[in-house]
Amino acid sequence: MNSSTILISLDGLAGFYLDLPQLQLPNLRTLIKRGTFARRLTITYPTSTWISHTSAITGCFPAKHGVLGNWTIDRARRSVIEHFGDQTNKESVVAVPTLYDVAKQAGLTTAALMWPVTRGARSLDFCIPPFYQQQMYTAHVDPGFWQALRDAQFTIDRYAAWSVNHGLGGGQDWLTLQIGEYLLETKRPELLMLHFLLPDSLQHDYGVHSPEAYYAMEHCDLLLGRLLNKLDTLGLREQTNIVVFSDHGHAPIDREVRPNVVLQQRGWQQRGDDMNRPSVDGELRLSDETKVAAVTNGGDGYLYIFAEGEERAALAREAQAALMETEAFDAILGPEHFAQLGLPRDHKDTPDYVLCAKPGYFVSHLASAASGESPLSGMWSGENGAITPAKFKSMHGYRPSMPEMDGFAVFSGPSYATGATIERMHLTDIAPTIAHTLNLELPDADGHRIPVES
Ligand SMILES: [Zn+2]
Repeated sequence: MNSSTILISLDGLAGFYLDLPQLQLPNLRTLIKRGTFARRLTITYPTSTWISHTSAITGCFPAKHGVLGNWTIDRARRSVIEHFGDQTNKESVVAVPTLYDVAKQAGLTTAALMWPVTRGARSLDFCIPPFYQQQMYTAHVDPGFWQALRDAQFTIDRYAAWSVNHGLGGGQDWLTLQIGEYLLETKRPELLMLHFLLPDSLQHDYGVHSPEAYYAMEHCDLLLGRLLNKLDTLGLREQTNIVVFSDHGHAPIDREVRPNVVLQQRGWQQRGDDMNRPSVDGELRLSDETKVAAVTNGGDGYLYIFAEGEERAALAREAQAALMETEAFDAILGPEHFAQLGLPRDHKDTPDYVLCAKPGYFVSHLASAASGESPLSGMWSGENGAITPAKFKSMHGYRPSMPEMDGFAVFSGPSYATGATIERMHLTDIAPTIAHTLNLELPDADGHRIPVES
């Protein structure tokens, strides 16, 4: 049968939420009942959005696909690479073919809305990347497509405003759904990828198991129901496979650690080198005096050392000791652990160390010390401190071995088995599994096809 696929990512909807019968997700549960359900999805490291979506769509670990973090540092250029908000171009950062690359090559029509790391993707016939600045949409979305959406009266001028304001994130997902419906109606893509963000945004702001998190998930389920109705109306339901997954889970936090504050106080980083400056198509370079810098990937972070020989060895030793003194880290892992984490040792953005935060902490970019009184005690808290009460209530980005980081996956539609449950699969298995149902191959994939077919 000639089937098409809609791949939907529900950002941050942890696998454990689906164990809760009180959560009203009738549409998702219908897909589960009529399809094959992987109760837990192991995520690649770091368990953060831009990395995870690239792993899902390539079937590869970051070691192979090349998107190592939401933020990384290009060692040679000493510049902060911001994949977050699609500040980079897909063709220059993703090193292996994606599912939509091989789909396009086989002559299928492809579309992606809000899918991370799709800016400039040549194999997407219709693409709106997840930008946070409105001028990026006009600069990078195909002008003909953008104009067609404007002519059809979609409120595309709100995309950025609704993306940056978590409270309005429901509007962003609603807009994505409407444009998805429009594409189904007018372009009939054989591969359509949609990314809904509200469950992640509201968990960050209000916490795991908050009423706001539940609202976000039920909101996404309503959107899913509307999409299913649309497929029914268009007579496409019977020939459409729907795959829904989440890119990572969430875990509660209450403290923020700012490694760059420690590094600046020790004189290893130039004051004013702030990794958190927003850039629009600009380059954010570290000053020449900076020898050590950290970037965040949500919960965990990366540490980079810019020195050679003995100086490098000494800096590595002293920086690790200073950071461990904050008591915010479980472990600081060197290159001997990278293979196990699925990270490369020789990529231009490879860090020197991985900073693994303790449960309850998240790594922040910020280089400014906390101001004023702190309710926390400890030598690194309070004024000039690197440990502050967290701005967020929950976080991801930790090692996949943390059970809260698990996602889930559902495969539903004519190609998939009905009523089957798999205890666990891996994020890198998603693309090879879908590829098989589309008669495509992803020879570079690390993951494997899961036997979920009917
Ligand atoms: Zn995410």
